[in-house]
Amino acid sequence: MMLTVTQKNLLLEIGRDSVRFDEPMAAHSTMKIGGPADAFVVPRDIETLKAVMRFAVENEVPYITIGGGSDTLIRDGGIRGIVIHLREGFNRFEVSREEGEDVLILADAGVSSGAVTRFAAEQGLSGLEGLAGIPGTVGGNIITNAGTSLGWISNAIDEITVVDRQIRELTMKKKALEFSYRHLRMPRSTSVVRALLRLKRGDKAEIETKMNGLLEKRKTTQPYGQPTLGCTFRNPEKGGKHGSSAGALIDEAGLKGIRVGKARVSEIHANFIINEGGATAKDVEILIGLVRERVKEKFSVLLETEIHVIGEK
Ligand SMILES: Cc1cc2nc3c(=O)[nH]c(=O)nc-3n(C[C@H](O)[C@H](O)[C@H](O)COP(=O)(O)OP(=O)(O)OC[C@H]3O[C@@H](n4cnc5c(N)ncnc54)[C@H](O)[C@@H]3O)c2cc1C
Repeated sequence: MMLTVTQKNLLLEIGRDSVRFDEPMAAHSTMKIGGPADAFVVPRDIETLKAVMRFAVENEVPYITIGGGSDTLIRDGGIRGIVIHLREGFNRFEVSREEGEDVLILADAGVSSGAVTRFAAEQGLSGLEGLAGIPGTVGGNIITNAGTSLGWISNAIDEITVVDRQIRELTMKKKALEFSYRHLRMPRSTSVVRALLRLKRGDKAEIETKMNGLLEKRKTTQPYGQPTLGCTFRNPEKGGKHGSSAGALIDEAGLKGIRVGKARVSEIHANFIINEGGATAKDVEILIGLVRERVKEKFSVLLETEIHVIGEK
């Protein structure tokens, strides 16, 4: 559904200079792909966020919140409705309090993962080492339960604050949240606005060594600095003789380097798809289908995508 002129004017009254129309979304995904969003809002504070969400609900306009776009494939037809981008206005973090060996950090959803993990390392705080080098924002990290074998963000969550479809600001303790592998159960209409992270005082040198090790590993085993969304597929629970690595299955199926249009399975890490320049979401989706088909034929394992796909074809 497209926004009417009246709706556009109303939205402009609410969001003023934080609202843009027909925003090319390729600029907001690390894959550098995506058609235009009808409206794109970067709320400057929580009151503006709530007002935009209230407008969307009352006018039955679809909306979605995004962060760094490092796990999101945006289709070529773009997004009908409103994209809420939490970044400026939601980019502060601070030590909230200390409880014995625990240090609690309050971080807005739009804070970049890099900023908060670097701060933790500098302060000798342990709990976020596993997130070293993961792009995106705290909000996106929470929704995707981002992490590595060294730990997921859910390990460090004490509580999160969200705004739901009824425009209620709710704070939920970790035990009320259903985190699982790369997932937090949460309606898409709910925006995560901030999180309280519970970190532990630790050995600064040890924390930095762990994080630097992860960063180095990324540089040698991943297509570093290229337009991608990281791992395309979730690691399957049962990968037969290849254990639980989607990348190993794709590699073993001989799919490294396979290309559709300008989208290619990375030669360096088979679970990464690279935009070689000018790839469309259609290229990527066809490539994903092809990889799934071949891996299914060869290993009887049906790969599921880890990336989030939004928008119109
Ligand atoms: C090079 C590279 C390496 C990567 N390595 C890893 C890795 O090692 N481990 C890992 O787990 N991931 C990895 N990723 C994937 C990605 O960085 C993570 O999933 C990250 O947490 C996504 O954060 P984001 O802010 O970019 O989320 P986005 O892509 O913006 O959003 C992801 C999802 O969360 C929703 N969302 C975002 N913010 C909010 C919010 N505030 N409220 C409600 N919903 C929201 C979006 O609607 C979408 O559904 C990698 C990606 C790249 C490009």
